[in-house]
Amino acid sequence: MKYIEEYRDGDLARQLADSIKAEAAPSRTYHLMEFCGGHTHAISRYGLEDILPANVRMVHGPGCPVCVLPVGRIDAAIWLAAQPDVILCTYGDMLRVPGSKRLSLLKAKAEGRDIRMVYSTLDAVKLAQANPDRKVVFFAIGFETTTPPTAVAIKQAQALGLTNFFVFCNHVLTPSAIAQILDSPEVRELGTVKLDGFIGPAHVSTIIGSQPYEYFAEEYQRPVVIAGFEPLDVLQAVRMLVRQINDGRFQVENEFSRAVTRDGNAKAKSLVADMFELRKSFEWRGLGLVPYSALRLKESYAAFDAERHWDVPQDSVADNKACECGAILRGVKKPIDCKLFGTICTPENPMGSCMVSAEGACAAHWTYGRFRDTKAPAP
Ligand code: SF4
Repeated sequence: MKYIEEYRDGDLARQLADSIKAEAAPSRTYHLMEFCGGHTHAISRYGLEDILPANVRMVHGPGCPVCVLPVGRIDAAIWLAAQPDVILCTYGDMLRVPGSKRLSLLKAKAEGRDIRMVYSTLDAVKLAQANPDRKVVFFAIGFETTTPPTAVAIKQAQALGLTNFFVFCNHVLTPSAIAQILDSPEVRELGTVKLDGFIGPAHVSTIIGSQPYEYFAEEYQRPVVIAGFEPLDVLQAVRMLVRQINDGRFQVENEFSRAVTRDGNAKAKSLVADMFELRKSFEWRGLGLVPYSALRLKESYAAFDAERHWDVPQDSVADNKACECGAILRGVKKPIDCKLFGTICTPENPMGSCMVSAEGACAAHWTYGRFRDTKAPAP
């Protein structure tokens, strides 16, 4: 593919790393959070931490859509799948995320529930069309990137006159999560998580634009650089952040200008605004209850809302005590700090959501970084 290899050029990567080293003040340490799991994956896959200077430290953030969904919502999806006549469908990664009692959607499927994997929201609509005597529930997850496709599916179901298509909505919002991290005691009071700047997400920002980050760049005095997912994108964003920090600037800059504008995608934003409204609060794995951080369907689309059609349990369920996903998603710990990493917990036998998704920090570290550590033996 054209314009991909150009962003993976090793010589250019080393030159960028050298210029970061030259510009980073030796007397200080730069703690930069990559919010998005796609960046975590790129950092691990291309070994970027190995070529960055030691005083530029990357902190993994909570931007993995599968990882941030709390146990209670997984349990609720399993509950929905057990309702009469229901076919529950969702994206592949969600099937393996552990709920409580070591149950997952995949295990519930093995126990006889009708749970299916779909590649797109429109597959879910087709499923409803093909099964008029069943109730098809799409377990919708993800950040601002995956919300418009859910909206399109509902529009299509409406146009087709389907009355057996429902959405269990778990769409969450990036800026609220970043603000929650910056307000957390670890950052504000205890100082156990140091954050000097953010690499902003790529795909999310193609939808919402760069403007929504301006508030907290100014309010919390932390620079943000929106970056693409290729290794040169990430390194360039690190250099831009180091420059801002050196200059004492707290601005939103856009490294990913080939896809992101300040205002984002007007059509997608208007579709989402027409169909969804803010929840007063929503539980995130690792972050707890975050105010105004998730969406639900508006009253005018109530007919498609699984949470209105069924009395879906809204319980908050504790994480597996041994799993450190919560702390990893807050940037407090790294995968290697978890006792289960690479021993009991592997991608084949995930104990937490961060080991399931390709965007999860534990899965990325397992796939690309574990041989540098002593805890997990090479296979
Ligand atoms: S290694 Fe497994 S158990 Fe440990 S934090 Fe990661 S997902 Fe959770």
